[in-house]
Amino acid sequence: MEKSKEILKRYWGFDVFRPLQEEIIDNSIYGHDTLALLPTGGGKSICFQIPGLAREGLTLVISPLIALMQDQVKNLTNKGIRAKEIVSGMSYREIDLALDNARFGGFDFLYTSPERLKSKLFIERFKLMNIALIVVDEAHCISEWGHDFRPSYRDIADLRAIHPNVPIIALTATATKEVQKDIIEQLQLKNAKVFEGSFLRENLSYEVIHSKNKTTQILEYCELSKGKTGIIYCQTRKSVKDIARLLHASKLSVGIYHGGMNSEDRKLMLDAWLEGKIDTMVATNAFGMGIDKPNVRYVIHYEFPNNLEAYFQEAGRAGRDGLEAKCIAYWEDLDIENLKEQTLRQFPSIETVKTTYKALCNHLRVAYGSGKEETYPFEIKVLAEKFNLNNSDTFHSLKILELNNDLVFTESVFHPTKLKIAIGNTELYSFQIRQEKLSPIITLLSRSYPGIFDQFFEINENEFAKRLKTTAFQITTQLNQLEQYGVIDITWQSSLPTVTFVHERLPDDYIRILPEAYENRKELANKRLKYALNYLRVSVCRLSQLLVYFGQPETKCGKCDICISEKKNNYSTLELANSILTILSEPMSLYSISSQLNSQKEEVENALRYLLLEEKIKFESQMFYSNSLKKD
Ligand code: ADP
Ligand code: MG
Repeated sequence: MEKSKEILKRYWGFDVFRPLQEEIIDNSIYGHDTLALLPTGGGKSICFQIPGLAREGLTLVISPLIALMQDQVKNLTNKGIRAKEIVSGMSYREIDLALDNARFGGFDFLYTSPERLKSKLFIERFKLMNIALIVVDEAHCISEWGHDFRPSYRDIADLRAIHPNVPIIALTATATKEVQKDIIEQLQLKNAKVFEGSFLRENLSYEVIHSKNKTTQILEYCELSKGKTGIIYCQTRKSVKDIARLLHASKLSVGIYHGGMNSEDRKLMLDAWLEGKIDTMVATNAFGMGIDKPNVRYVIHYEFPNNLEAYFQEAGRAGRDGLEAKCIAYWEDLDIENLKEQTLRQFPSIETVKTTYKALCNHLRVAYGSGKEETYPFEIKVLAEKFNLNNSDTFHSLKILELNNDLVFTESVFHPTKLKIAIGNTELYSFQIRQEKLSPIITLLSRSYPGIFDQFFEINENEFAKRLKTTAFQITTQLNQLEQYGVIDITWQSSLPTVTFVHERLPDDYIRILPEAYENRKELANKRLKYALNYLRVSVCRLSQLLVYFGQPETKCGKCDICISEKKNNYSTLELANSILTILSEPMSLYSISSQLNSQKEEVENALRYLLLEEKIKFESQMFYSNSLKKD
């Protein structure tokens, strides 16, 4: 067996492993179950790709996002490693062929989205495959306590039962202790070894700025940071446009990125930023997955997300190169109300959710009792308009239906045109003689892709047009004809979002919304919101707050805005809060607390606010009470 270090050098060209990578890889190579928790950018992909290469057979990778899969498959293919993804949006024929290929040893890696796992087509082939390793990337998706629960992840355990001796490796960047336990249980990991990397990023400094005019402050910051690479995160597309316009008007170099842009425009912006042609990217959270630029010097939040998982991931895109970088969150008073409202909006009434399901099925003409595992391209805006629904309610209703395991909703990604020749060589030859006009394109296809009789290939209509000295429109017309004649199997390029139904359309009264999809999540969303608001408003070391939230050992950073002000004041809010708790054996007023502790009223107020937010005390009739004293 080739040693993991040799594989690292040979395929990736790196000499050394990052912390924990080698231990994780070896555990997996030797066939043990593994749970790996490494921060975003920590290098998790290599942790399963190297064991996949080292072990004999096919590695199955389950991953939630098509864009991520496409990216990884491309990277592996560029290294000469045989990899393929199967995702919604591909034709039945192409999936069928890919599975066949996988079964006969044609690939080292097969990537799939979780909703594919339950299909009979998949399971029957999977049984016959020689599996080396099962990989569950973004494994927190399996837990309803995680921030990105996907019910179809629950089906992974059934796969394990088909190949009980194949090791599993689960990887994630964010998993609280609760979620870790859930991952191990749900995946039925056996004697799993857990590797938990540190979330501490020594080179990042965190800062929160409570502002009266954050727009101006951000503009000033960007002007001072001209020439440096940065990201500004916003919650809405509108804010993205507003902020970008403002910076642009001050002659700053900015780009924008949000989910409402088509994939070509997004790629253009991303490439310009990656190549350093643009300093600052103003973006929504659509700017995330796979973004891996080393020299990001600042990540600013113009609008804070409503959970710390998202914040930590977004802020964590700063300073990948290990050099100093800043993560600054700005907030104005109004933002607090907005965050609360935004969280509430994620939960339209159950009635609305049911109405949306019905509207969706009618819109896509799915009859009662049919639609199972069918995929449809569609646009929320069109659906909402047609049925007079509100955009945000429709979007969130679909999300809830997804959590309720009724459908899977896929973001828009660009699928290029792919095709395969569907008939044999002799038949093709006689077709070419009969259809002279279509002959050149057939010749081009079979010359450019010798394997095209057995496999789907991506083609680029523009390039074909150039080579045949015609127009892209002509190429499309000719391909259309070839399809009509049954000469080729083709999936046309598209970039629409899709919906895939998990089960047949149910009668309208039969849709039941599970607590995991609604009630529990609502409670959880409110709890997460509370911590996000605390991060902004509570005067405790920002890093400690993040570490504690992720169940990691508490460490003060010494360089966030709080630590710096504590250094000036010599007394930390946390210490003061603890002293307050010790003297609150009986109800006390603000005045008596301040005088007993001999501290500034302002600092005491700050500590009391922290205790109130943490629900350690309460305030009634001008007196503070400790909650731990209450005995009823
Ligand atoms: P994650 O999935 O943990 O967010 P990735 O697997 O996408 O992270 O890796 C992030 C980046 O780190 C990639 O560009 C990868 O090539 C790089 N990387 C991973 N391991 C190493 C290593 N040992 N040495 C240098 N670069 C590495
Ligand atoms: Mg990853």
